[in-house]
Amino acid sequence: MNSEDAAGQLRSAGLRVTAPRLAVLASLAEGAHLSVETIAQGARARLGSLSLQAVYDNLDVLAAAGLVRRFEPAGHPARFELRVGDNHHHLVCRVCTAVYDVDCVIGARPCLSPSDDHGFVIDEAEVTFWGICADCQARAIADVGGGSGARANADADTAGDAGADAGADGSAPAGTRPRRAVPSVRES
Ligand SMILES: [Zn+2]
Ligand SMILES: [Zn+2]
Repeated sequence: MNSEDAAGQLRSAGLRVTAPRLAVLASLAEGAHLSVETIAQGARARLGSLSLQAVYDNLDVLAAAGLVRRFEPAGHPARFELRVGDNHHHLVCRVCTAVYDVDCVIGARPCLSPSDDHGFVIDEAEVTFWGICADCQARAIADVGGGSGARANADADTAGDAGADAGADGSAPAGTRPRRAVPSVRES
């Protein structure tokens, strides 16, 4: 998105056009499902400096206005994306935390209907598919072929950095580091 489009989007959402907001939107446009740290890096490359708190605050405003979607895989830091309004779902790799989009089956919310709605007016079903991505499967097969336990461990340690946009997660403070993926959908 160029900055004129971004400015237009901010205005039509009733938001003031500010340099940090434009920088955050431009940073988001460089990838999908970006972590706050990655967005902050991209914004700082444009502005020179911007505190992490300012990035959080701007993302909150942009998400509330519907310009940005926040995706929070259970047990992992939030990711942000510009693909909004289409009720798409997500696939998350348990090993490298790579995130892929899955189109909404029906094309509109809530996409799924529960067997018993308990009288609710249902407006949203958020589906997160968990599994092992193709790259991590290939790595695991290669490791079995190599037969070295030490090598398998080394690969597991670098797997996070190999993810499409998981790189910046490595710099997250220890307290926010995801431990083991907590499945939000039970394996059957
Ligand atoms: Zn993976
Ligand atoms: Zn997405």
